[in-house]
Amino acid sequence: MSSKIDSFFAKNGLLAKALPGFSVRPQQQEVATAVLQSMRKRGGVSLVEAATGVGKTLSYLIPAVSMATPERKVVISTQTLALQNQLLEKDIPFLQSIWPTPFEAAVLKGRGNYLCLQDYDVCRGELWTAGDPQFIQIGKWSGTTETGDVSELDFSYPGWMDIRANIDTCKGQECRFFDRCFYYNMKREAQDASILVVNHALFFSDLAVRGRGEQNANLLPDYHYVIFDEAHHLETAAAGAFGVAFSSSRLPSLLDKVKRASRRLDLDQERLKALEQSSLELFSPFAGINKPDFNVGEALEGPHALKNAQTQVAGVGALLDRLAVELLKQDTSGDPIAKDRIDGLRRQCTRAKEELAMIFQGDDENYLRWGSQNRGGRRGPITTLHYTPISVAPLLGPTLWAHNRRVGATLISATLSTNGSFDYLRERLGIPTEDTKVTETLVDSTFDYAANTLIYIPRRLPPPSESPSYTYEVVEEIIRLLDAAKGGAFLLFTSHRALNVVHEQLMLANLPYPLLRQGEMPNARLVEAFKSQENAVLLGAQSFWEGVDVPGHGLRLVIIDRIPFAMPDSPLHKARVDQITAGGGDWFNDYALPQAQLRLKQGFGRLMRGVEDRGVVALLDTRLVTKRYGSDIMKFLPRSPVTRYIEDVTKFFAPEEEAASPIPPPR
Ligand code: SF4
Repeated sequence: MSSKIDSFFAKNGLLAKALPGFSVRPQQQEVATAVLQSMRKRGGVSLVEAATGVGKTLSYLIPAVSMATPERKVVISTQTLALQNQLLEKDIPFLQSIWPTPFEAAVLKGRGNYLCLQDYDVCRGELWTAGDPQFIQIGKWSGTTETGDVSELDFSYPGWMDIRANIDTCKGQECRFFDRCFYYNMKREAQDASILVVNHALFFSDLAVRGRGEQNANLLPDYHYVIFDEAHHLETAAAGAFGVAFSSSRLPSLLDKVKRASRRLDLDQERLKALEQSSLELFSPFAGINKPDFNVGEALEGPHALKNAQTQVAGVGALLDRLAVELLKQDTSGDPIAKDRIDGLRRQCTRAKEELAMIFQGDDENYLRWGSQNRGGRRGPITTLHYTPISVAPLLGPTLWAHNRRVGATLISATLSTNGSFDYLRERLGIPTEDTKVTETLVDSTFDYAANTLIYIPRRLPPPSESPSYTYEVVEEIIRLLDAAKGGAFLLFTSHRALNVVHEQLMLANLPYPLLRQGEMPNARLVEAFKSQENAVLLGAQSFWEGVDVPGHGLRLVIIDRIPFAMPDSPLHKARVDQITAGGGDWFNDYALPQAQLRLKQGFGRLMRGVEDRGVVALLDTRLVTKRYGSDIMKFLPRSPVTRYIEDVTKFFAPEEEAASPIPPPR
């Protein structure tokens, strides 16, 4: 390690002096060295799994700050807002306070996070905002805020979509408000920074724009190196950015804006009605689908259904074109506000036409047309149609991993390897195996799992099924476990259906532990409620498997209902399985199993958040011991002792004097 970096991590180094309780961790130094070495190579890439407890954030931040300058920026990209906030509010200010020389860091968010002064000005003159107390509050805030960042608002404003910065209405340097623009101010500040904090979605949107060679459209300034934390999300983030999504509320809300504007304009009202009707008809085949995700091709029944939909889309496109032309003909001389409004609406018409065409007429074999449903807002349920790359490998190969690349990268996470290797990650992201500039580092946790944790797999449960008798047996197991730990538990489910069924049964059991269920309040408040009670039980699905941090005794039991294989009827999952099979691969071992392995490691990781934590992870899926793939999964979980006996769990939680016989030895 370089002496500069060493001066931070050493026994009497800067971290030891500044952080009470700091302990030298060779694992942390190993990660820092790997990141630093990769940064020193032109186009160096390091893949790093740093298990919980290693001190991952500082292990990459310190090399990053040591190498970054405003001319050679380092981008730190995260998946979650929670990690972004932690970097900006805690880790970076801490380093700035001890770093020998000053350095600048800036956050860059997507446009939609910032107030657009032009669109706000346009809306100010419209009827729907008159007298609206929240709009008045926005007005006051717009005069005092330095950032215009929506996260400063302590209320959720339903009209934000109309006043946020967006690519369609933004006029850039021609805007009347350009000098004061919050979005462009943020970009200007980023120019002086050596460290930029962004999220994966923005990073990949920028990469996609650069890939298309669009002039002056870059979302990020040029950078020298990127560090992806929470890198296990990269495939999903890249697929989102390289794809297109179009919701059933998109055209109605565009038409709302046009209608509001048309009070002062001369527009063909019949055309607006026709457009409204066409939008309804376009989405009507999907309205009755009772699944969260569906394949568009399968949902459009009949041999000519897709052709018919494409004809419909062409019709909608023609109407949008004519509307854009009609808007262009409006006389706005001497009225800059009306001109801004109309220019924005025209661009929205054009973009809507292009994206609809891409979704229905795109014919790239590596892309899937699929749809998703959600409960929606004031217009009722919303259907969103997507056109998404099935594999991002061919898209990232020529950009991020190009042989002659100038930009290097670190991909780091507590859960990145499967079967002890990075093969799955490389395969999914298209990172070449023969590339000598790519290094791999796998460091173990500093936590003593053997002494402080126990894995419990029940002896008698049958393999998971949807039968009522199975659910009954699972609930019985859960109650026994909760009684042993006296609450303090996370129950992690692979489906909302299972979560709801178990919740109902636990309510009926009238347990002495407060039950908290995902969905009954925002997740952050749910976690706070959990932390505030010694014996609470929280039932969560997807979003609680990772990123939730409850250190200490409050969380001492994690119960996982089954091996988290992806939902087999998810269209994107199916398309990936088909693509792998068509390429001669083994979809189960090369895709489904590693994915489940990573997910299980993430769920497991909720238990130990601090060196003094101790607790039990109960895995209620007996396939972990009856199936061969079960032992493959178990091999790469933390080295906790395993028991099949509930009595061992009771002993584990019993006060020391009662726990006479020892818990099972480590594996
Ligand atoms: S420059 Fe763009 S984002 Fe900024 S105020 Fe003007 S239109 Fe809005």
